[in-house]
Amino acid sequence: MEKQHKFSIWYVLIGIWIVLILQNFIHSSFAIKTIPYSRFLQLLKENKVAEVAITANQIQGKLKADGTENSRDVMFNTVRVDPEISNLLDQYKVTFKGEIESTFLKELISWVFPMLVFFGIWMLFMKRMAGQQTGFMTLGKNKAKVYMESDLNISFQDVAGVDEAKQELVEVIDFLKEPKKFTELGGKMPRGILLVGPPGTGKTLLAKAVAGESHVPFFNLSGSEFVEMFVGLGAARVRDLFAQAKLKAPCIIFIDELDALGKARGIGAVGGHDEREQTLNQLLVELDGFDPQLGVILMAATNRPEILDPALLRPGRFDRHILVDRPDKNGREDILKVHLKGITTVKNLDTEKLAAMTPGMVGADLANLVNEAALLAVRRNKKKVGMPEFEEAIERVMAGLEKKNRLINPLEKQTVAYHELGHAIVALSLPGTDPVQKISIIPRGIAALGYTMQVPTEDRFLMRKTELLNKIATLLGGRAAEEIIFGDISTGAHNDLARATEIAQSMVKEYGMSSKVGQVYFAQEKKSRFLLTGLEGAVEYSDATAQLIDSEVREIISEQYARAQKILQQHKDVMEKAALLLLEKEKIEGAELKSLMGG
Ligand code: ADP
Ligand code: ZN
Repeated sequence: MEKQHKFSIWYVLIGIWIVLILQNFIHSSFAIKTIPYSRFLQLLKENKVAEVAITANQIQGKLKADGTENSRDVMFNTVRVDPEISNLLDQYKVTFKGEIESTFLKELISWVFPMLVFFGIWMLFMKRMAGQQTGFMTLGKNKAKVYMESDLNISFQDVAGVDEAKQELVEVIDFLKEPKKFTELGGKMPRGILLVGPPGTGKTLLAKAVAGESHVPFFNLSGSEFVEMFVGLGAARVRDLFAQAKLKAPCIIFIDELDALGKARGIGAVGGHDEREQTLNQLLVELDGFDPQLGVILMAATNRPEILDPALLRPGRFDRHILVDRPDKNGREDILKVHLKGITTVKNLDTEKLAAMTPGMVGADLANLVNEAALLAVRRNKKKVGMPEFEEAIERVMAGLEKKNRLINPLEKQTVAYHELGHAIVALSLPGTDPVQKISIIPRGIAALGYTMQVPTEDRFLMRKTELLNKIATLLGGRAAEEIIFGDISTGAHNDLARATEIAQSMVKEYGMSSKVGQVYFAQEKKSRFLLTGLEGAVEYSDATAQLIDSEVREIISEQYARAQKILQQHKDVMEKAALLLLEKEKIEGAELKSLMGG
């Protein structure tokens, strides 16, 4: 944050002070003193009066330069008492005339001139403050800075380890470079792109790189900045931001921390007109309102997509989601290389070793690490940064990290690796399951320590019984693998168990897929609980049926667990080989595992 000159009461006080000084100065130089007539006579007799003007009942005059009252020419004023004054004036050789010069002008100047000066200073401050978009005159305007390409010298080369995200953004760059060409061909751009990932993985950097690569202005605003002030201002800011952006199109608007602004709107709040909600509504209005042909691309970042208001994620709004995940070992090495360019290191620095030593770190941590190492080298009076500095820097950064996002210990990492491989191998062995795309043991988000990514090849509307059973077996594969390898099981499977049980229950109660229970529908309509009166929704069944349902669900689960175990026993050697690979690389492709299994 740059330093800002806040509007302050001090400016007013200083201004008033300046006016008073000036006024006093001017006034005293033009000042007219009212003196008693006797004093006038005395001054006259002392031969100190230079000239006078006389009317019927007033005398105004000027003292000589060496007059007593002051060193300067002093004007005076007195009431005329003696009607025969001209003789006296003659006697002391004072020039005199019969009318009084108006002092109105001088009085006016002594007030108006300082006022003008003060006003000028005031205007100057106002202009400066308006230029900085702060101060109360500009409250409604957003604080977005316009980064033109010259400022924003960031390209895709500066962002490493997020190749998939970059690939998805190439299209956006093409569009921004020539929006007309794109729309003439009938192409439709997504309006909103949501970058999802943990803090520090380079989401802001990516958005800036898109702007840098396509040479368009970049408007950067944080979600929390929208909601910080008085009621109604957030909405005004959103409106203003979009108005500014439209003028600069093609351009990018980037909203960091979208979750601060876009949290799901609660039902609870009485009145429900809270500031954030108004701002969010305004954002939705703007999102729907702007012409996609215009070339304004809205990008936003969040690390908590699950709490976003669903309205934000609907088609036509933030409908394209790009995952910016923690980097794997290769990614970390690439990121390190980007940041190492900025410092002088020893020639044979082993970046691969560094990457292996920094599991769980994100781009921001790695940038910090390189900086720490460089500082250490300076402190040690070294010309080049070497391995010892990096090792110490890693310790320092890690110590800070451990509090932030628990780093998993080696045994846990092993458990996670076998667990995920269990899912993946079962899925690959059973026909009709979704292809395994990727297996990762990079901790992600709050809950997942690892994940197996299965991507469906097509939209499905019907599922066969065998497919559902295969799905259950795949879900149970994680725990089965743990039991086979370690002879013990962990808590890591609770989510898998919940999902497997849910499917099994649906099979028995909704789809009539259990022969003992029969083709009967026992589930409740999934209506909102608030709408139920207690009569219509409940499906009645006897205790005996309830027991039967339970035992059938259990039967399905245990059968599939046994099946998963059998598959994994058969592929135990593959699982062990793959685990070594996964522990080293932290991420393997589905195809790689498939080839290990022999196609
Ligand atoms: P986010 O917006 O995801 O919280 P930032 O984009 O603000 O993260 O990243 C902060 C800093 O960390 C960047 O300015 C950059 O120096 C460094 N950084 C983060 N990710 C990367 C990356 N993938 N490649 C290179 N540097 C990165
Ligand atoms: Zn699992």
